[in-house]
Amino acid sequence: MAKTYIFLGPPGAGKGTQAQRLVEEKGFVQLSTGDILREAVKNQTELGKKAKEYMDSGKLVPDSIIIGIIKEKLQGLQGKDIILDGFPRTIPQAEALDTMLPEVERKLDGVILFQVEDNEVIKRLSGRRVDPKTGKVYHIVFNPPPEGVEVIQREDDKEEVIRKRLDVYHSQTAPLIDYYKQKGNLVIIQADRPPQEVYNALINVIK
Ligand code: ADP
Ligand code: ADP
Repeated sequence: MAKTYIFLGPPGAGKGTQAQRLVEEKGFVQLSTGDILREAVKNQTELGKKAKEYMDSGKLVPDSIIIGIIKEKLQGLQGKDIILDGFPRTIPQAEALDTMLPEVERKLDGVILFQVEDNEVIKRLSGRRVDPKTGKVYHIVFNPPPEGVEVIQREDDKEEVIRKRLDVYHSQTAPLIDYYKQKGNLVIIQADRPPQEVYNALINVIK
């Protein structure tokens, strides 16, 4: 059966960075609800129009919208090893996923919690920059873009929105830690270390 992992953790924990590496080196497909939504906003689709205000203010996009997106994507990814990056983010999303997985012939192989303190998150997010052409993630201090690569700052990586997103994480997403602990699926990774060390820990889990 194709592998299915969830990457859980606060914004800025390094989930996207590590997922990109697993895509390049291990052939995983990264399913990032944030990336899907940003693409929709850029293209001004119906979805993008609905999602933009929530995203710009650091709130979660309503569950019904997100669940619909994931359902559609999962149907097109049969047989592929996947990382769910940034989904689920609420208990209702997790419950919907539980129902969905057997329908697409999958089971959960693990939920990997990227553990990082809030002050580190703030440093990471305020310095995050993205190459809009490739979607590759950089950091002005920790991982500067190569010479000649033009990067932008996300609207929601401004200080006030970062704090709001952290609040939302603690109130709406952190309850998933207990949800998956109880199911016996949770693996905790100390993500407050250099990317290579985090990757090594990750590879030990995803064998
Ligand atoms: P980060 O990992 O930096 O928090 P994401 O790129 O995962 O950011 O998400 C950006 C924004 O997209 C979120 O703040 C939220 O508005 C929206 N979003 C992404 N995934 C979800 C989800 N599963 N449920 C609700 N909203 C989501
Ligand atoms: P997430 O997807 O969890 O929101 P990202 O992968 O986008 O997080 O990482 C957030 C920021 O932190 C980016 O600027 C990234 O370059 C940087 N970063 C990622 N992993 C590390 C790490 N292990 N140490 C320092 N900075 C990191």
